[in-house]
Amino acid sequence: DLTLTGVCKSFGKLEVIRNVDLQIEDGEFVVFVGPSGCGKSTLLRCISGLEDITGGTLTIGGERMNDVPAAKRGVAMVFQSYALYPHLRVRENMGFGLKVRKVAKPEIERRVDEAARTLKLDSLLDRFPRELSGGQRQRVAIGRAIVGNPEVFLFDEPLSNLDAELRVHMRAEISGLHKRLGNTMIYVTHDQIEAMTLADKIVVLRDGMVEQIGSPRDLYYRPVNTFVAQFIGSPK
Ligand code: ATP
Ligand code: MG
Repeated sequence: DLTLTGVCKSFGKLEVIRNVDLQIEDGEFVVFVGPSGCGKSTLLRCISGLEDITGGTLTIGGERMNDVPAAKRGVAMVFQSYALYPHLRVRENMGFGLKVRKVAKPEIERRVDEAARTLKLDSLLDRFPRELSGGQRQRVAIGRAIVGNPEVFLFDEPLSNLDAELRVHMRAEISGLHKRLGNTMIYVTHDQIEAMTLADKIVVLRDGMVEQIGSPRDLYYRPVNTFVAQFIGSPK
């Protein structure tokens, strides 16, 4: 499992994450929601190791991760902006992280091919990012995360650059991926429908604090306050 105990993050004097307690079971799909600036991305970056936490404890699989570098946490992050290397072909983009970690070339090829099959990218492996559609680029970004075989996937608004139709399609793909891989996913979104359809558990954040944690049903039918009710779109 993955646990946060009293996790805090400040940038100078600005307290962005305040005393967050959270327990995530293996294989759970957890969605972070909350208004712009409430700290969703920062919390995700703290879990991934892209930011150091300034208080509390983070453990993954029972191991304290506070000072463990990002590459050794067994997590992979997928960004809204895809962050693909424009000068590398799809297969090189997907294998890049493994190459950096000095994984042997045949093993990289094997894992890239397998991820490409999973994401239906087989026929696109020799293209450059500029030759792909938005949805295809997003699949490459997810593929790059898959090849590292992470225990935990972290997604920061991965679909917000896509049009409505593609968003619905990719949502189903991510859901299918979760069912097939069975690993833990933590997913940040602005989109209530995305949150309600994907999540086992939703975490509502407000000003860096947890406002409520529960299943989509719980939050919808039993919001703890009007803030959560309005955010989730509960019936009046
Ligand atoms: P959005 O929905 O707009 O993406 P968010 O919930 O992801 O918002 P964060 O990006 O986590 O919000 O930012 C939370 C707060 O922390 C904001 O006030 C932001 O300005 C601040 N912040 C984030 N990164 C830094 C940084 N590197 N230095 C200083 N302040 C930061
Ligand atoms: Mg954000």
